[in-house]
Amino acid sequence: MSETPFVGTPRKATTHTSQNEGLIFEKSSPGKKAYRMDELDVPAIDAAALLGDAVRTDGLGAMPELSEIEIVRHFTRLSTWNYAIDLGMFPLGSCTMKYNGRVNEAVSRFEGIAEAHPYQPESLSQGALGIMKQLQDCLIEITGMDAITLQPAAGAHGEFTGMLMVRAYHESKGNARKKVLIPDSAHGTNPATAAVVGYQVQNIKSNAEGAVDLDELRRLVDDDTAALMLTNPSTIGVFESQIHEIADILHEKGALLYMDGANMNALVGKTRPGDFNVDVMHLNLHKTFSTPHGGGGPGSGPVACKAILEPFLPKPVVVTRPDGSLGFDYNRPQSVGRVRMFYGNFGMFVRALAYTLANGPDGLRLTTEDAVLNANYIRAKLEGVFDLPYKTRSMHEVVFSDKLQAKNGVKTGDMGKRLIDYGFHAYTVSFPMIVSGAMMIEPTESESREELDLLIDALQQIAREAAENPELVKTAPHTTRIRRLDETGAARKPILRWQGPPQAAVEPDTAAKEW
Ligand SMILES: *Cc1c(COP(=O)(O)O)cnc(C)c1O
Repeated sequence: MSETPFVGTPRKATTHTSQNEGLIFEKSSPGKKAYRMDELDVPAIDAAALLGDAVRTDGLGAMPELSEIEIVRHFTRLSTWNYAIDLGMFPLGSCTMKYNGRVNEAVSRFEGIAEAHPYQPESLSQGALGIMKQLQDCLIEITGMDAITLQPAAGAHGEFTGMLMVRAYHESKGNARKKVLIPDSAHGTNPATAAVVGYQVQNIKSNAEGAVDLDELRRLVDDDTAALMLTNPSTIGVFESQIHEIADILHEKGALLYMDGANMNALVGKTRPGDFNVDVMHLNLHKTFSTPHGGGGPGSGPVACKAILEPFLPKPVVVTRPDGSLGFDYNRPQSVGRVRMFYGNFGMFVRALAYTLANGPDGLRLTTEDAVLNANYIRAKLEGVFDLPYKTRSMHEVVFSDKLQAKNGVKTGDMGKRLIDYGFHAYTVSFPMIVSGAMMIEPTESESREELDLLIDALQQIAREAAENPELVKTAPHTTRIRRLDETGAARKPILRWQGPPQAAVEPDTAAKEW
């Protein structure tokens, strides 16, 4: 690198040390194999006779052919390009990127657990059912609700399930109702869910504290309102202190209160949605309960509800039979049906239960306190360095804006990319939408004071750079193997699969600008 990429001396800055790596197709040469097998000593199967038209032969010529060590090295090298929670912090607000404890992994890999099959008879699945039952009981206790389903595979899927239950509930009373109210601070999945379930979405403006405006709510709730979908704490990390009144306003008109519980990391062990009169909510086990996000396995978005909604839970539900054994109950005439096949994310239940039991009630409470403390520590250290649009007390995350830096043409996205040069994953950029130029930071309880100080240090330096050398920030990242990407090209014209020889696969406008 010709010029020094930093203004001042960063305490933490790691460059990405990784080797160049082509596509696996480019390494291929005909006839190479990763295995050696004996000559066939039985008659070969005639695939065409067996499968007819279903036999695919086209495109097979383009399959990569490599030796075992070449394959191992290819994927191992690629893996070194990733930023990972095992390498450093993800200050991504709204995502609760906490550390996934190794004990969870160890437990989920026990043979009897990892190899359980969904078609195993109930009599041989008592352990697996017991894990589900115990996790359900823990989550019911933590949320203060009456019943729960573990079926949904993600937060958004949980919202969908919960809102199907809301619709089924209103339909059972003769009228599905027409609209769902959603604050302007909501996660994008909330309005999408309400629309997919067939409701009109009506927006509610937040007040100056970033909370729901009660007068506005009173004005909007009517006999056509099915529910309010509310994230609490909201996406700006603010607790809805008038949550009881919000619930009352809805219930007076027969509407329900749906709580998006993705932010439960701020509440566990301190307060329970069931106690502040939420009717139905989802949890994100892959956020609050430390199971991996995305690539580490499927997500899990359990939906907890009050007794009035219990008949509508997806089936089958886990029940205790008269003889004390556990089983699945399919005889649920009012159920919204299945929302997925089997309970394929079972491994996540094991991990979440391990996390819950390893922490215990006091540990979970401490987790919440530490998560909130960490967010407020960052807020205290960076307030003034960055604009803080809402002064209301922060819970587990804090939202700044790029207002001060934007004067020099430096935007939240530039600073997020610059953070990569300092060895951190970016914070959440440009969300929530009610804050222009949002910089949303959620440290979680996993990070030590030392790591938080490094992040704070890096962000303070970036703010200094934005004032003294804005170009440096606007052209970041500088230390990554691939520098600033053409994001529009990547979004509009992605090349998602191998399309032939190398020269045809690389289009100049979407290719990396620099290797
Ligand atoms: C993450 C999140 C969701 C969606 O969860 P997924 O598992 O990604 O579908 C919904 N609402 C809020 C507030 C979230 O933070």
